[in-house]
Amino acid sequence: MTLSLVRPADVVLEIDLAAIRANFQNVSTLVGPQVRVAAVVKSDAYGLGLVNIARTLIDAGCDLLFVANLDEALLLRSSFSGIAIAVFRDEFDRFGTWYQSHDLIPVVNNCKELHAVSTAGEAQTYFLNVETGFSRFGLSVGDLQHKYLLRTLERYRPSIVLSHLACGECIWHAANVLQRDRFRAVYDLLKPTRGSLAASAGVWLGKSYHFDMVRVGSALYGISKAGAQTNPLQPVAKLRARILDMRNVPAGEAVGYGATFRTVRASRVAIVGIGYKHGLPWSCANKIFVRLAGYSAPLIGRISMEYMTIDITDVPAGRCSPGTFVELLTEDFTVNDLAAAAGVSPQEVLTRLGAGCTRKYLNLSSPSAAFTASRRRRR
Ligand SMILES: *Cc1c(COP(=O)(O)O)cnc(C)c1O
Repeated sequence: MTLSLVRPADVVLEIDLAAIRANFQNVSTLVGPQVRVAAVVKSDAYGLGLVNIARTLIDAGCDLLFVANLDEALLLRSSFSGIAIAVFRDEFDRFGTWYQSHDLIPVVNNCKELHAVSTAGEAQTYFLNVETGFSRFGLSVGDLQHKYLLRTLERYRPSIVLSHLACGECIWHAANVLQRDRFRAVYDLLKPTRGSLAASAGVWLGKSYHFDMVRVGSALYGISKAGAQTNPLQPVAKLRARILDMRNVPAGEAVGYGATFRTVRASRVAIVGIGYKHGLPWSCANKIFVRLAGYSAPLIGRISMEYMTIDITDVPAGRCSPGTFVELLTEDFTVNDLAAAAGVSPQEVLTRLGAGCTRKYLNLSSPSAAFTASRRRRR
């Protein structure tokens, strides 16, 4: 028999699904009705939970979801039968039957897969990835100059050709223009196949980057604002963690591993039950503040595996005690800010926090979602 203790979580990542719906609408409005908005839900929806996030996006009107691999695709398919699911990379030449039996769309990344698609039967829907300056996956522009390959592509036409920008976050970067022009040439070559170049950052590079479809992940989760004067995206995640213990520390004492912080006054400190195992970046030690009962308290010393320490000397004694939650991510201090303080990418912070914390969902369904669903059923 296994024993388990039931108690409330010490670390809670709160995910606002209404904000995700709003971000999807926002991106849709930005690109206009001619451009399809596909949602990227790879890596467990950037740590936020594949099935819940997918359901939210489908309710918001999304009809195509991208996942990283077949494992994620199969999990998604077991929850949603009607929706189109595309797999960024997972060996169609080995696993073709899985794609076929579960109605999944492969992204073809090399000639081996293209050959497998062309021998799988006329009806095999697939997307084609073309390499234009990222040097990751995809057929090279050179590959497309081979006549036999072009003939294959004409006979077994991909429904979408895609490529990925390396420098979309830098609106002025010359690499964007180079990749767009290379992609434009491929797009013209493969007409009437539709095209998709932009991920989240590319949405803000302007119309000439949108082609027929954008593939957005980060923007939906509130973590891309590249090029935007005012950030139209809503933050999605809030993070809080519980104070476990408090103590008085005399002036001149060290706090935490490496003694990277030393008190300059007699201090009151609180030990909070969140550490790098929960996804809090180690590199934000001594750099951020948490909110506590309307006060601001600095994180002091290194972050350890399960804990961090904050200075609560200036917080009135009655306002905090063991059991009180402190807020690490709020509307005013977002994943973007934490990532900037830690010197890492916001995507990295979000996926790690999502994997390491207890997730709690707000606004699970909206009245408009229920309305859309009932309308869909009636049609
Ligand atoms: C992850 C990924 C995306 C989504 O990127 P975001 O910047 O998070 O929107 C789109 N396309 C490809 C190929 C990706 O790997």
